[in-house]
Amino acid sequence: MVITEIFKSIQGEGTRAGLPCIFVRLTGCNLRCTWCDTAYAFYGGTKLRIEEVLERVRELAGEGSGRVTLVEITGGEPLLQPETPELAAKLLAGGYTVMIETSGERFVGVLRREVVKIVDVKCPDSGEADTFDMANLGAVDAKDEIKFVISTRRDYEFARDFTREHRLAERVHAVLFSPVFADPAGAWPGLNARELAEWILADQLPVRLGLQLHKFIWDPAMKGV
Ligand code: SF4
Repeated sequence: MVITEIFKSIQGEGTRAGLPCIFVRLTGCNLRCTWCDTAYAFYGGTKLRIEEVLERVRELAGEGSGRVTLVEITGGEPLLQPETPELAAKLLAGGYTVMIETSGERFVGVLRREVVKIVDVKCPDSGEADTFDMANLGAVDAKDEIKFVISTRRDYEFARDFTREHRLAERVHAVLFSPVFADPAGAWPGLNARELAEWILADQLPVRLGLQLHKFIWDPAMKGV
């Protein structure tokens, strides 16, 4: 597998936000979202065998009652690498709760049911509209999460209409609406979280506002957290 980084941090997003978590960040992505904050994972990386990845996760997890049992496979786009389903299965077998964060462009049904899938649906102003594989709607269930990263009112209206049309709140554990966090170097603007919260409330949407906790805890430009 080609790996950008493996590290331990606090889960910053979704319904497990705030929990200690080990992240396995895979290298490479076939999309180019305008506000991508992990472009450093597009190229390079280190080739590791699945066993080497598992060993690194074991080291970071520690032992005893404080052992970290939550692992997220992310990227880049982790489903571009054919070994990813096997890595996820082996982590499950090792007693971890395994999450995967994916762009929604690849079919998540290649993964075991028990893997918690956090599946993006790209909004129009991401620059990657219409990349969502609709078959993914049939491959998620009540433990999974669907996420929209929202940069504009137009994105919000797309996410709102998609959520309603496909009754997402009935399909998955949580529908996440996350405002784009402004690039620390000024490459793209953010969306004000309060503005997004007010839109959600005005429309009475059954969704969860998602903030990226790690960007409030550490410097927003910091990698490996
Ligand atoms: S899918 Fe994810 S990693 Fe790929 S460009 Fe978009 S935000 Fe970045």
